[in-house]
Amino acid sequence: MIVFNSLSKFQNWRETYRGNIGLVPTMGALHEGHMTLVREAKKTCDFTVVSIFVNPTQFNNPDDLKKYPRTIDADTALLADAGADAIILPTYTDIYPDSFHFKVTETTLSTRFCGAHRPGHFDGVLTIVLKLFNIVRPKQAFFGEKDYQQYKLIKQMAAALFVDVNVIGVPTVREADGLAMSSRNLLLSPTDRERAPILNRVISNSKTPNEAKQRLSEEGFIVDYVEDFEGRRLAAATIGGVRLIDNVEIQHG
Ligand code: AMP
Repeated sequence: MIVFNSLSKFQNWRETYRGNIGLVPTMGALHEGHMTLVREAKKTCDFTVVSIFVNPTQFNNPDDLKKYPRTIDADTALLADAGADAIILPTYTDIYPDSFHFKVTETTLSTRFCGAHRPGHFDGVLTIVLKLFNIVRPKQAFFGEKDYQQYKLIKQMAAALFVDVNVIGVPTVREADGLAMSSRNLLLSPTDRERAPILNRVISNSKTPNEAKQRLSEEGFIVDYVEDFEGRRLAAATIGGVRLIDNVEIQHG
């Protein structure tokens, strides 16, 4: 596994590579959800590149950015084990030579759900992903359906801006108790970790979003939203200061 710890090293390598690249963008603190994306990439691509970059422009809350878990040594070991071919570890100035004076803004879907609660979040996400697409020039790029709105926006961006990449969604990987795997789960206290799966349980078996919201509030969650969208129920809620998101297919009947 090649570790590119500067962008220019990766760019030099990329000049000479002719195979099909699969890209898995991440912010590190890797878990089985990320590894599933890597395994999916390996199935269809000649060379799997994982980027690890805690992207400051997508954090609307400075404290959230400061607290975000960073486990680079463990991440490298997991990726080597999963058979990733390369990791890119860019710096802020590698990625933002323009100091974020240029950004990608979507004006419709990005204003709803997480976008309504995290101003500027999706501008940061779409901008970093477009930059990574241009740097890596992957044939395919893999994103988790756990971040369903993000996945949809990236797919729409690639189509709208004629980026020659196939954006592939990968189903959510969960803990045995149903909690969607997330780097942020590391920040949960033991008691909150025990309560966190309630989010998945409640959105899966409430009849309506309103019922789910009420039940989550009663369970001590601070609810940002629960809404049905395109056959899925999307939710975000905070427990013990940790914001969790999840979505499930709506079961009919
Ligand atoms: P992050 O490091 O949180 O930015 O996530 C990097 C990628 O991994 C994104 O495409 C996420 O949607 C995806 N991902 C994170 N958690 C999971 C999960 N539990 N199951 C599937 N994909 C995930």
